[in-house]
Amino acid sequence: MSDLTQQLIRLANDIGGDTEFSRAGGGNASVKRDGILHIKPSGVPLATLRQEELVPLRIDVLLDALHSDDEVDGDPVRVAAQKAQVGDAGGRRPSVEILFHALIDDPLVLHLHPLTANAVTCNERGEELAREILGDDAVWVDYTDPGVPLARAVEDARNAHAARTGKPVPGVVLLGNHGIIVSGASYDDVAQRVHSLTDRIQRAIDQAPQPEEIAHPQLSATQKKAIVESFHLVTGASASASSDSGLARDYTGPLAGPVSEGPLIPDQIVYAGSLPLVLQGDEDEAALSHKVEQFQATHERLPIIAVVPGALVVAIGDSPSGADNALATYLDAVRVAADADRIGKVRVMNQAERHFIEHWEAEAYRRSVAKEQ
Ligand SMILES: [Zn+2]
Repeated sequence: MSDLTQQLIRLANDIGGDTEFSRAGGGNASVKRDGILHIKPSGVPLATLRQEELVPLRIDVLLDALHSDDEVDGDPVRVAAQKAQVGDAGGRRPSVEILFHALIDDPLVLHLHPLTANAVTCNERGEELAREILGDDAVWVDYTDPGVPLARAVEDARNAHAARTGKPVPGVVLLGNHGIIVSGASYDDVAQRVHSLTDRIQRAIDQAPQPEEIAHPQLSATQKKAIVESFHLVTGASASASSDSGLARDYTGPLAGPVSEGPLIPDQIVYAGSLPLVLQGDEDEAALSHKVEQFQATHERLPIIAVVPGALVVAIGDSPSGADNALATYLDAVRVAADADRIGKVRVMNQAERHFIEHWEAEAYRRSVAKEQ
């Protein structure tokens, strides 16, 4: 194993294995060697990534695909990946973000969905905050649909940054309503950039006023248990998970972005759904069942999350780990939204942005890989 590849795997496992930075199959990592990009497969967690799992792809072929306007038959990222593939990937599909990994010339590239930094990326004032907190040390990219459009937006923003500052492009890119890309020449380079970025944004959050206390409905333990059991039962789920303290109690007011407005990042849609079912907490099974039906009629899918604002969050899943992951993903969004509101105003994904992710085949694939694990 080359030393650089070892450094990449350590970065993926150390940083990507920390739920502050990535969860489940989210985020990705790549290393460039001799014109070949070796990248994490789609759906595989950074936390457990091994060298043998990396998918090798020719960088020149990927860059041609990125810059070409030729019509292709099928999803352009899939087609590019198939053309660029070197040898046998053993059925693994490379990450959908291969194109932005290919265009950044640093050998090591780590893409994360970090909770602290996302208080800036998921913010109506995101670009302004990035400039205030990070100066010219980060490139800002507005939310863009993943795949070719996002990679082109990253390339354009990097070029514009270089033209404006007259300096080399920094190794940090902030992706609106999504996460960050951090690149560098070594483990220490990349790790230092991730931690410095996080520290600077955390300081800005700590200096902002505390959020106001929200109301907490008085629900007995029996009522909460009944809500959890009814939601589990009427959705026909295999498993459920719930929380009634910390984030689930203190930052789930009726006006919180993830409660009433929409999802913060694509991964939230993939693992926890775009919006939760909002309950009052006093519903019996029949009333809850009616609300689930109404939700289904409106959203054309079952809710994955149910929220009693200020009191309880319930998640369902195909397995106990699926339910745990949905709950954790939703609570991540709750935390990011609360921090975003402290330093500005949370920005949720709009209808068109949501719709693209909800119907994207690549995300359905990623969900299916996650289920097998
Ligand atoms: Zn991502």
